Amino acid sequence: EAARAPHMETLFDARPRIAGPVAGGLRLDVINPATGARVGNVIPAAAPDVQAALAAATPWSAAPAERAAVLRQAADLYEQNFGAIFALLAREAGKTLADAVAELREAVDFLRYYADGADGLDAPARGRFVCISPWNFPLAIFTGQIAAALAAGNAVLAKPAEQTPLVATLAVDLLLQAGVPATALQLLPGDGAVGAMLTSDSRVNGVAFTGSTETALIIRRAMAENLDPTAPLIAETGGLNAMVVDSTALPEQAVRDIIASSFQSAGQRCSALRCLYLQEDIAPHVLEMLKGAMAELTLGNPWDLATDVGPVIDAEAQEGIAAHVAKARSEGRVLAELQAPGQGTFIAPTVIRVAGIAEMGREIFGPVLHVATFKASAIDRVIDDVNAMGYGLTFGLHTRIDDRVQRVVERIRVGNTYVNRNQIGAVVGSQPFGGEGLSGTGPKAGGPEYLMRFTAETAPQ
Ligand code: ADP
Repeated sequence: EAARAPHMETLFDARPRIAGPVAGGLRLDVINPATGARVGNVIPAAAPDVQAALAAATPWSAAPAERAAVLRQAADLYEQNFGAIFALLAREAGKTLADAVAELREAVDFLRYYADGADGLDAPARGRFVCISPWNFPLAIFTGQIAAALAAGNAVLAKPAEQTPLVATLAVDLLLQAGVPATALQLLPGDGAVGAMLTSDSRVNGVAFTGSTETALIIRRAMAENLDPTAPLIAETGGLNAMVVDSTALPEQAVRDIIASSFQSAGQRCSALRCLYLQEDIAPHVLEMLKGAMAELTLGNPWDLATDVGPVIDAEAQEGIAAHVAKARSEGRVLAELQAPGQGTFIAPTVIRVAGIAEMGREIFGPVLHVATFKASAIDRVIDDVNAMGYGLTFGLHTRIDDRVQRVVERIRVGNTYVNRNQIGAVVGSQPFGGEGLSGTGPKAGGPEYLMRFTAETAPQ
C-alpha cells in the first residue's frame, strides 16, 4: 500500500482525549480492511481514564449563540481538513471515495444544522451526555450525536466504535481546535467495556447510541439499574429493510436502485436493502438485468476511484457473512455471486433466494441481497410480513400505480419510505432519518425534535 500511495505512509495515533493526564493501556494496531496494512495505533481508555473523564465533565456554559459559532467553526475546519478525513475514512473504515465525500458532507451538515438549532434554544442542558457510535458512519454519526449534545450545552463523553478510533480522534481534535472546552468534550476510545462503564455510571444524565438492537437493550438495562430514571436513551439501531418492485416499475431504474440500495457501502448501512420482493411475472427478467448490472461492479481498494464496492469492516464481519452465504450456497439458493479480491476482508456482492423476509430472521450487515417473489394479489401480505419482523427503519417501493403507493405507505410501519428511488440516504434538515420498533426510539436525527431530547426541557420538575 505504501508503494501505491507514499503520501499516506504517515501513521495516525489515537488515544483518550480527556481533561487531565491519560492512564491508557496497551497500544493496539488499527488495520486497513482492504489491504491488511497498519493505518495507525490506538491506546484505548482504561478504567481510570473513564473515571477521570466523568469527574472532569462540565456542561458547556457558554451562551447558545456562542456554542453555535464554535460548532460552525468546527464545520469549517472539517471542510478544510477534507484530505486527512478522506484518507482515514478510506483506510480505517474501508469507505469508497464517493462514500467518504458523502459522509463528510453529512457530518458538516449536522454541525451547521444543530448550530442553527442552538441559536434559538433557551432550554437548559441535561448535564453529562454519553455518545456511543458505530464504525459504519465513523464520522457522520459520531459527529451528529456530539454536535446535538454540545449544541444543547451538555458535557459530552464520546465512545467511538473500536474499529474506527482514528477518524474519531481527528474529529474531536477539530472540535477542540474550534473552541469546544476540553471539559465539555472528552474522547474515550475502546470497546464495549468502555461503553458499559459509561452507561452504568450514575453521574450520566443521558445516552445517545447508534449500533445493534442487542447492545441498545443492554444499555437500556444498565441505565435502568444505575441512572436517574429521567435520563433519556436516544437509540438508532438495526433494520431488516425490504423493497417491493411490482410489474409496473421501470426495470432499468429499479435495477439501478436495487444495486445502490444493497451494495453501496458494501451493504454496511443500517438503511440498506436486505430483502427484495419482485412481482412474480417480472422476476426472471429483473433478475437477469440485476446479474448484468452486478457484473459491472468493481470490487477493490476504496482509495481507487474506480472502486464501487470496498471491503467489509473486519475479519469477524467477513467470517459471519461468509458463513451465511456458504449455507445458502450449500442449499442451492445463491442466484448470483461476484468474485472477491484475494486480500483484505472482502465479501463479494451476492444474491440469495428466500421464500420471504421471515426466512432471514436477522440483519446480514454486508453486500448480500435476498430475493423473494410475490403475486399481485398478495401485496398486503408482503407488507404485513415485513411489519411482523418488528424492525421499522426503511422501506422501498417501485411502482407506477398511485393508489398502491398510498396504500402501501399507510400500511408499512417504518421511519423512512423511498418510492421509485434508491433506499439510501438522509438529508440533514430536509429528510431526517430514524426508525421505530426494534430499529430505534426516535426522534429522527437531523430533524427538528432531535435537539430537544438533549435538553432538560421535557424532564419532570
Ligand atoms: P455493531 O458493531 O454491530 O455496529 P454494536 O452495538 O456492537 O454494533 O456497537 C456499537 C457501539 O456500541 C460500539 O461503539 C461498541 O463498542 C458499543 N458497545 C458494545 N457493547 C456495549 C455495551 N455493553 N455497552 C455500551 N456500549 C457498547
